[in-house]
Amino acid sequence: MRYVIQPLDLPEALEKILAATRPVARIGTVPIEAANGRFCAADTHADTDLPPFASSAMDGYALFAEAAGFGPGSLNNHGESLAGHPYSGTLAPGACIRITTGAQVPASANAVVIQENCSVRDRVVHIHTTVTAGANIRPPGQDVGCGDIVVPRARRINAFDVSWLAACGITEITVTQKPRVAVFSTGDELVEPGSGLGAGKIFDSNRRALLELLKELPVTITDLGILPDRTERIADALTQASATHDLLLTTGGVSVGDADFVKSVIETIGELEFWRLNLKPGKPLAFGHIGDCLFFGLPGNPVSAIVTYLLIAQPALIRLCGGDPQPTKFYRATLTQPIQHSPGREEYQRGLLDFAAAGLQVSATGDQSSNRLATFSKADCLIRVPQESAEVAGGEFVDVVPFFGLIQAR
Ligand code: AMP
Ligand code: MG
Repeated sequence: MRYVIQPLDLPEALEKILAATRPVARIGTVPIEAANGRFCAADTHADTDLPPFASSAMDGYALFAEAAGFGPGSLNNHGESLAGHPYSGTLAPGACIRITTGAQVPASANAVVIQENCSVRDRVVHIHTTVTAGANIRPPGQDVGCGDIVVPRARRINAFDVSWLAACGITEITVTQKPRVAVFSTGDELVEPGSGLGAGKIFDSNRRALLELLKELPVTITDLGILPDRTERIADALTQASATHDLLLTTGGVSVGDADFVKSVIETIGELEFWRLNLKPGKPLAFGHIGDCLFFGLPGNPVSAIVTYLLIAQPALIRLCGGDPQPTKFYRATLTQPIQHSPGREEYQRGLLDFAAAGLQVSATGDQSSNRLATFSKADCLIRVPQESAEVAGGEFVDVVPFFGLIQAR
């Protein structure tokens, strides 16, 4: 028995998991239309300046201003530069041109005066203010310089990145290929929703939860169904799946008890790194590997399976996808009602946030038993209760992590 026997605190467990996890080595290119949500496998550099030329930030008149500035004064209008239609001449002394927002500023001009500060009569532009050199001009490369990094390696591409890549004229990027992830649930009591519920049976919800949560990540998902509580069947299925996947997720069968099959199977066909956490919900959790394939045996209780997926398996998946998982970002909120807790295990309760005039407030969503999926349906965050806390009184500050931030924040 070579695995860590004593239950691990969450930070230690995450450290071990991330130390054991490498991004999948397979990389490829995707067109930017397919890049949203993918992780960059290399820095992407701009091969042009953005903006590509000096352009006007306003509608007005382009002119040449000495170091001391120009104006008030008058200039002759010698032409125009419109967006997409630059002025091809050279400004003579005493001349200006009409210019529109985004149009190229000719090399012979160095300032733009906004039209609101001008009046025009007979092609003579009367400028009523002093215009300084550089005014209202966007220099080339102001947004991105040629050679600058637009999106760095390990970044998860979002809609803003895609638009920035398009602005730079970049049509494809290098990404980590999607890791192959397989999901099983285990338990003789489980049946598929849609089939009849026999005596003592329940519908399998964990596998569905994991399959749905995995859709938030760029992974290829295999649904491998329900396994019975039989060592040989579990061993065969995990051995086979490990040959063609980068990560396996199971739920159930990892707690202490008669049906402790999954943990012992991993000890036989692979290596177990640790098995228990100082975490509520989620004490039983097996982490290890079978050959090169990572393995997470999540708890069977539905709430524990989801919480441990979010806090523990997901950072590993992000690393596998080519990302750089960051520590969870917490916000401070005032607890509206007391939370019962006894010192010993760090706890994550399901909570509901409210942006009140007094600031962010949070309340727990009722009975927090680890079988109560109802606590999730009303929740929009997790509330962290520190390991050493006894009861947390109403009115005290707690750390919360909104669900919407759990993935993006990493
Ligand atoms: P276990 O960890 O296998 O002892 O399971 C703990 C509890 O979670 C038991 O009440 C199981 O019936 C329940 N459970 C296990 N797997 C699932 C699942 N896939 N869907 C819903 N409940 C489950
Ligand atoms: Mg079970």
